[in-house]
Amino acid sequence: MADRKVELEGLRDELIDRLDRYRAHKEQRNGPLDKDMEEQAIEVQNDDVVDFLENEAEDELRQVMHALARIEEGRGEVCEVCEEPISPARLEALPFTTLCRECAEPR
Ligand SMILES: [Zn+2]
Repeated sequence: MADRKVELEGLRDELIDRLDRYRAHKEQRNGPLDKDMEEQAIEVQNDDVVDFLENEAEDELRQVMHALARIEEGRGEVCEVCEEPISPARLEALPFTTLCRECAEPR
């Protein structure tokens, strides 16, 4: 499935882009500290949101890279846990998954 690889590579580039922007945003904040308290409080809140988004994007990027590595090995369509094939519909919905539906579901 070459399309899935292309899709994952696109996703990877997008995530790297996004992470760059989050980091740039956080660096900007380390500017002058002569703002009033209210403004600083709002910025701290924004930083929490950005931290959250950054962690989320990092997790997703890790998954995408992992899935790409599995595809490179020729095992991209096989569940990592039970080695059964992952259904094409599932791969289409979640291109970065490396688990079949049964193994992905918490018991
Ligand atoms: Zn499985």
